[in-house]
Amino acid sequence: MSEQTGVVFNIQKFSLHDGPGIRTVVFLKGCPLRCRWCANPESQDPAPCQLENGLTLAADRQRMTAEEAVKICLQDRDFYEESGGGVTLSGGEPLAQPDFAAGLLTKLGVRRVHTAIETTGYAQPAVFDRVTALANLLLFDMKHWDPVRHREGTGVDSRLILDNMARAIRAGKEVLPRLPVIPGYNDSLEDAAGFATRLREVGADRVQLLPFHQFGENKYGLLGREYAYRDVPALHEEDLAGFRQALLDAGINAFI
Ligand code: SF4
Repeated sequence: MSEQTGVVFNIQKFSLHDGPGIRTVVFLKGCPLRCRWCANPESQDPAPCQLENGLTLAADRQRMTAEEAVKICLQDRDFYEESGGGVTLSGGEPLAQPDFAAGLLTKLGVRRVHTAIETTGYAQPAVFDRVTALANLLLFDMKHWDPVRHREGTGVDSRLILDNMARAIRAGKEVLPRLPVIPGYNDSLEDAAGFATRLREVGADRVQLLPFHQFGENKYGLLGREYAYRDVPALHEEDLAGFRQALLDAGINAFI
């Protein structure tokens, strides 16, 4: 029987921002969220789609088996071993292709490669538990602490996400909550206090802050889509000083 395929829109080598050490990031297509600031709008649709800016694989090369993706990842195995790195599944939302993601993680685990998943956590609990159990580290996004604002910004409810995060932490998984700080959406001091409360509720005591950037801006034009954050200035580390301090004051180890 031929091996099941998944849809991967990019494989990025030598990443330093997606988990420890030098990593290869495998970007899976498909996402159930619709964040208004999304920097990877080409990732949302599960079907292959190529952007003419060199930042995606050609559409006809995006469908691949887990073994094919793992083979590319293993080309940099020496770098992983020297730097304490490994492979990170990103997207999109990797849990939107659960069998493919599980296949990748299993094959990498057998080869003793450290694995991480960048996830929104928006998946049914059985799917979430089955796939995340195979990864060494969860890089877990939190978009908003307030359920109404969460739905406004992402199109989905936050309950499932928070329940999954709490369960993963209780189960002893290594979970790093990450907070994309978006101007005018979740970047006030009141928001910082709200996030601190939510983080404590799920059992987390740290969070990585990800300042809003504009790396995805030109992709919307290439896709012929409107971009809600066009011309909104990017945030920098110094812009987040007060927000970070408010989290620190609330007992959360916030870092950038
Ligand atoms: S979760 Fe990530 S990939 Fe999905 S819409 Fe939001 S920002 Fe984009």
